[in-house]
Amino acid sequence: MAKWLELSGDFSCNNRCLGCYSISGDASRMSTGEALEHLRHGRAEGARWLWLGGGEPTLRRDLFAIARAARAMGYTRVKLQTNGMLLSYPDYVSRCVDAGITETTFSIKGATAASHDRLTQTPGCFEHLQRGIDEWCRRGLTADGDILLYRSGLPEFVDMIRVFHARGLERFNVWLFSATEFGEGTLADEVPKIADAIHAIGEALALNLSARTDFITSLHTPPCTVPRGLSACLFHAAALELIVANPGGYRFRLEESPIEGGHYLESCIKCTLRRRCNGLRQDYLKVYGDAEFQPETEPDDRPIPVLRDVVGLDYGADGGGSEEGGDSGSRA
Ligand code: SF4
Repeated sequence: MAKWLELSGDFSCNNRCLGCYSISGDASRMSTGEALEHLRHGRAEGARWLWLGGGEPTLRRDLFAIARAARAMGYTRVKLQTNGMLLSYPDYVSRCVDAGITETTFSIKGATAASHDRLTQTPGCFEHLQRGIDEWCRRGLTADGDILLYRSGLPEFVDMIRVFHARGLERFNVWLFSATEFGEGTLADEVPKIADAIHAIGEALALNLSARTDFITSLHTPPCTVPRGLSACLFHAAALELIVANPGGYRFRLEESPIEGGHYLESCIKCTLRRRCNGLRQDYLKVYGDAEFQPETEPDDRPIPVLRDVVGLDYGADGGGSEEGGDSGSRA
């Protein structure tokens, strides 16, 4: 069974982000008919929430047709994962809402135009992103941030949280840059050390900007690297119950992706946290080795974070809310 279907229709994008697969030149593309077939499959497998990813999904001319079809099939949440550039146009936001898109998650690389545009390699991108967030949030719609953390972005991580939360984003997912697709060399220098990322997340949480218990979720940091006091930022890929559909008929569970980890050390066998650990990424081990990953021998009594993407849109700042996702897209 599944909760989410993530549809990545193609890999084209109007940004040129450092290290992103979208600049590899892969032109494979899912037709509208194939996308609709994936929607039907997803519903048959139990999915009721749709995640529109890519590439940049707003570049697809059939985006609104797909969103409308999804809502007609019974998908109650339709999430748009976007760099925000096209959402800077008010008419485009209106069309998203009319088509039934309920929420967005905006891709963030830096806290300033200089850093964001350097990593997206797209002049003017930061300004469009800001305007896109403003257009979306002024309608009272749900909006999160996806921070792709590069090593060179670590010094301004706390500012990214502060700046974009002030702008209207409710919570953040932190992805650690991976050099998986491009091997070693210069890009491997941009992989942040987990200990440094966790330290930065701790600093951001210490600002107490939000009462949300799922304010920051860290996707690529195994539980053994996260101090007990920061357990709320833990992420377990399998908990999303998410099926990814890519061009070429590829379908797989999120937890099977090498980006999520999947590799375990010999010493992991005795770790009490293993049942909710996504494992390690091979590219990370090549850069930093395995010294950070020490098995937990005490019983696993850490609380399991309750995430909005697991329980539903109504999961709000007070840590409560309904068990099932709302379908209005309005803020809880
Ligand atoms: S299973 Fe291994 S990587 Fe995962 S938390 Fe335990 S020691 Fe860390």
